[in-house]
Amino acid sequence: MSIRCRLRHVAILLSLVPGAVPADDFAMTEVAPGIFVHEGREVGIQDPARGDSANIGFIVGTKCAAVIDPGGSIATGRRLRDALRARTTLPVCYVIDTHVHFDHLLGNAAFSVDRPSFVGHAELPAALAGSRDYFLEEFAKELEGVPTDAAIVVPERTVQGEQRLDLGEREIVLVANPTAHTNCDLTVYDAKTQTLWASDLVFSGRLPVLDGSLRGWLRWMDENEARPYQRVVPGHGPATLPWPAGARPQHDYLAKLLGDTQAAVKAGTFLEDAVQAAAAAPPPGWRLTEPHARNTSRAYRELEWQ
Ligand SMILES: [Zn+2]
Repeated sequence: MSIRCRLRHVAILLSLVPGAVPADDFAMTEVAPGIFVHEGREVGIQDPARGDSANIGFIVGTKCAAVIDPGGSIATGRRLRDALRARTTLPVCYVIDTHVHFDHLLGNAAFSVDRPSFVGHAELPAALAGSRDYFLEEFAKELEGVPTDAAIVVPERTVQGEQRLDLGEREIVLVANPTAHTNCDLTVYDAKTQTLWASDLVFSGRLPVLDGSLRGWLRWMDENEARPYQRVVPGHGPATLPWPAGARPQHDYLAKLLGDTQAAVKAGTFLEDAVQAAAAAPPPGWRLTEPHARNTSRAYRELEWQ
């Protein structure tokens, strides 16, 4: 047996021992003092590893910790909880859901045992109600067959405008944004380290998925561009990005999508033809480009009535 093979064998054995998780198996990066991010895998919605495909993590104060997105499955949420527990014994005061997409919030139930306050955008409960049947059917494995009521935790504390949460010598500012990536995008700003947890308002390395408003998303990017963030935590990609340079490719993509769609609408191109052209020519420089055709369809429907 080669050394590599033997190491792999040991890793497999370790993974079978309850509680014995190899140290690097669920890597966390401390991107700023007290801010920990786990980078999700770069896989699409059909991949068996989809439950661990978003950037998730937590922020620790002197009084308690706040989880920001528990991940796309209860198992991922549990691993994040283990990672948190390995770093602090403080209570988990809040579990903050940045938006309605499965890869960010289906892990909520892993934290129910901590009795935190689950927090989301004011539009999130309705969005979750709309996705509930789809989640239960399509993500039964990620929800581990938990009875319906306990499987999908709906935030009881919602944010309209802005809300400040005190973690002890550390205040985080939650902002409920107008429709952009989705209609329920919540950002978290840590004033102490000038870190913006943007979640899926910023993608890096893979194609941004439009599920809200193209104009709204570009507006959000333009309004935030000049803000003095030291770093931004994107929803997909590396644990942090420099701001605003790290989001420039996304801005260019969205701006081009807007221009191309406006031109197609003006030229009287049929929606089907525009979508077909988009599917045939995904933009260069991105991985997981499959949603480009759907983005085009969404953009077209948003713009054709304007
Ligand atoms: Zn998303």
